[in-house]
Amino acid sequence: MAVKICMKNPVVEIDGDEMTRVLWALIKEKLLLPYIELNTEYYDLGLENRDRTDDLVTQEAAQAILKHKVGVKCATITSNKARMVEYNLKHLHPSPNATIRAILDGTVFRKPIIVRSIQPTVSTWKKPIVIARHAYGDVYKNAELAIPGPGTVELVYKGKDGTEQRIQVADMKGPGVVQGMHNLDDSIASFARSCFIYALDEKLDLWFATKDTISKIYDGRFKEVFQHIYETEFKSVFEKAGITYFYTLIDDAVARVVKSEGGFLWACKNYDGDVMSDMIASASGSLAMMTSVLVSPNGAFEYEAAHGTVQQHYYRWKRGEKTSTNPVALIFAWSGALAKRADLDENQELKNFAARLEAATLQTIDEGEMTGDLARLASPAPQNILDSWEFIDAIARRL
Ligand code: NAP
Ligand code: MG
Repeated sequence: MAVKICMKNPVVEIDGDEMTRVLWALIKEKLLLPYIELNTEYYDLGLENRDRTDDLVTQEAAQAILKHKVGVKCATITSNKARMVEYNLKHLHPSPNATIRAILDGTVFRKPIIVRSIQPTVSTWKKPIVIARHAYGDVYKNAELAIPGPGTVELVYKGKDGTEQRIQVADMKGPGVVQGMHNLDDSIASFARSCFIYALDEKLDLWFATKDTISKIYDGRFKEVFQHIYETEFKSVFEKAGITYFYTLIDDAVARVVKSEGGFLWACKNYDGDVMSDMIASASGSLAMMTSVLVSPNGAFEYEAAHGTVQQHYYRWKRGEKTSTNPVALIFAWSGALAKRADLDENQELKNFAARLEAATLQTIDEGEMTGDLARLASPAPQNILDSWEFIDAIARRL
C-alpha cells in the first residue's frame, strides 16, 4: 500500500443535497480517500441541517472559507414552498450561494471542460472561453414603474450631507415604463480585482467590454475603474506574465468572441454575464461539463459545480435505480480546490494528484466511457452508457 498524500492545511468542505450529495460521498470514497490523507473542515449544508441551524451553518462555512482561503461546495437546494412541504422546514431559507457570495464579496468564473469527442458549436473555438460575471446591481437590483400617462420622470439623488442632484429622465408623451438602477464603486473595484487575479492565476488574457459610448457615466465608470486598477496594481505583473488586458465595446467583443480561438477570460457586467454564460455553456456542451469558482478579492476561492442537485435523478436513485448522472463538474470542483490548496501550501504531490485526477476523468470520456448526457452529444457515439458508479470506477481504474 503506497503512502497517502498529506495536506498541511484544510480545504473547507461544504456538503449539499440530493443526487449531488450521493455523488459527493462516492467521489470521496473512490477517487480521493484511497490516495489522500484528506484534511477538510466539514460543513453540512444539506437542507435539513440548514433548517436545524437556522442557516447559521451557511454563514460559518463562508467564514471558514475566508479563514482557510479554499473551499469546495456541493450543489444545494434553494428552498421554495414545495421544498418547505417536502422537507418539513421551519421557514424558507435564503439561497446558500447568495449568502456565501455576499460574505466572500466574490465574482463567479465559469469555464467549459473540453473533451475531444464533443465539439463546440462554434468551430473556431479551440480553447475554453472563461466568463467572469459581476454579481451585484444593475438591472438585478432595479426600481421600475409603469407610467399611466403623460408626465415627467426625474432621477433625484439626496446626499447624506444635504446636497441634491436631479436630472430629467423623460418627458413622457403617453403611457410607458421607466427603470432606475445603480452600482457601487467598491463592488465594481472588487469585481475588477477578482478578474485581474484570476487572469494572472490562469495565465489568460483578460477582455472587458461595456457600452460606454452610449452610457458615458454608468458604463464609463466600469471602464475607468478597470483601467485605473489595471494601471496602478496589475500592469507590471501582467507584462511579466506575458498576458494582456484588452478593453472594447460590448458589440465588438461579441463579434470577436465568435471569431476567436478562445482561451481568454471575458469579464462581463451582470446582465451581459447572465446572457453570455448561457451562450458559452450551451455552445460548449453542458452545465455538467463546466467548472465554476467564486474568487473573492481578498484571495479566497470556492470551487463548485455549475449545475443544481439533479432532483429528478435523485428521486429515481431513491427508488433503487442507478442513475447516469454526470459527476465531472463535482470531480473538477474537488480537483480545483485541491490544486489551489497545493499552490498555497507549495505541495507538489497534491498538485500532481489534482492534475492526474482531471486527466483520468477526461481520458475516460475520450476513450468512450461516459454518462448518458454526454453520450447524446459525443461523436463517435459510445458503445454503451455508464451509470455514475460505473463511470467513477472507470476513472478510478485510470487513476
Ligand atoms: P439541475 O439540478 O441543474 O438539473 C436540471 C436538469 O439538467 C436535470 O434534470 C438533468 O436533465 C440535467 N442535469 C443537470 N446536472 C446534470 C448532471 N450532473 N448530469 C446529468 N444531467 C444533469 O437543476 P434543477 O433540477 O432545476 O434544480 C434542482 C435543485 O438544484 C433546486 O432545488 C435548485 O434550487 C438547486 N440548484 C442549486 C445550484 C447550486 O447549488 N449551485 C444551482 C442550480 C440549482 P435530465 O433530467 O434531462 O437528465
Ligand atoms: Mg441566465
